[in-house]
Amino acid sequence: MSKTWRPATQLVHGGTTRSQHGETSEAIFLTQGFVYESSEAAEARFKGETDGFIYARYGSPTNDMFEKRMCMLEGAEDARATASGMAAVSSAILCQVKAGDHIVAARALFGSCRWVVETLAPKYGVECTLVDGRDLKNWEEAVRPNTKVFFLESPTNPTLEVIDIAGVAKLANQIGAKVVVDNVFATPLFQKPLELGAHIVVYSATKHIDGQGRCLGGVVLADKAWIDENLHDYFRHTGPAMSPFNAWTLLKGIETLPLRVRQQTENARRIADFLAEQPQVARVIYPGRKDHPQADIIAKQMSGGSTLVAFELKGGKEAAFALQNALEIVRISNNLGDSKSLITHPATTTHKNLTDEARTELGISAGTVRFSAGIEDSDDLVEDFAKALEAVRA
Ligand SMILES: *Cc1c(COP(=O)(O)O)cnc(C)c1O
Repeated sequence: MSKTWRPATQLVHGGTTRSQHGETSEAIFLTQGFVYESSEAAEARFKGETDGFIYARYGSPTNDMFEKRMCMLEGAEDARATASGMAAVSSAILCQVKAGDHIVAARALFGSCRWVVETLAPKYGVECTLVDGRDLKNWEEAVRPNTKVFFLESPTNPTLEVIDIAGVAKLANQIGAKVVVDNVFATPLFQKPLELGAHIVVYSATKHIDGQGRCLGGVVLADKAWIDENLHDYFRHTGPAMSPFNAWTLLKGIETLPLRVRQQTENARRIADFLAEQPQVARVIYPGRKDHPQADIIAKQMSGGSTLVAFELKGGKEAAFALQNALEIVRISNNLGDSKSLITHPATTTHKNLTDEARTELGISAGTVRFSAGIEDSDDLVEDFAKALEAVRA
């Protein structure tokens, strides 16, 4: 196992351990428990004197392979695989705060992430301030003496706003707070939050890491000391563990991550450029296009564009619905990162629970549409959009 392997190699071989059968493909250890040679061996295992697994809620061999492979990819010391992306986010945040602490979070967050910090955390006496994360001054002004955690997502869902991760990390280090980054939209290939100074990275592995729409999963990555001190006991005793079956599916998914994300990004870029030329489209937001409002930060912290495109139709909701309904290859779904191209209208789906005011703050209008590029032939996708746009008045 080599730390110097390049990502594409790590993602095929990293973390693999083989049983006595020498299987090529990673084995699924679908077991709840483990047996011991003797009472003394059980005692030693529980004392931590010998390595080995105890119970699948704590850890198990297939999950361990997935965690090790993710660590190599992310450049992290340690990780915990979780049952979903939300299990990763909620564990990463809740394990490190107590009543009386304060969280500063960017207001542009995945809906459930926002609920965790805005609605759930205050129930336990943890206050939260939401800020427009694009301006570092807002983070600075929100800081209180009891601020313990900064939480952000970049690029954001659905309008692909970008936050200066290194800038936020610098501020956090000045006050001794930890930065948690939800790196789903950037993918582990295009953005390295730990290298930028963030302390904890979380993923919904449901998205690009599975990449084929099969199972839920998540992962929390950080340095070993932080995990030992904060997440280790929380994870064991609250039980957000991933199923070994899902860990296996995700291990297989991750092998092809670079191939899929490369094709998805090419497709997304092509659709973004195509849409920008269409009379029905008011604006296109795509990290990687020169007209992205924060192209300078993107150049600084991302090594690739995005598999997602946000765009706004001049004709509002009616136009958005007409476009979505007329597409044949691109399917209507709130999911993303799949090998199938998907499209959603955030105002009536993923962001319907926000107030009109909160949606406006996030740049989500009645005409905003989010496209998640799949791995299809981009000629077919362009033709699908061109034909569907005929159903939309300019
Ligand atoms: C999907 C998603 C989540 C939640 O992940 P689940 O696997 O659905 O629980 C969190 N953050 C972002 C940015 C996501 O896209």
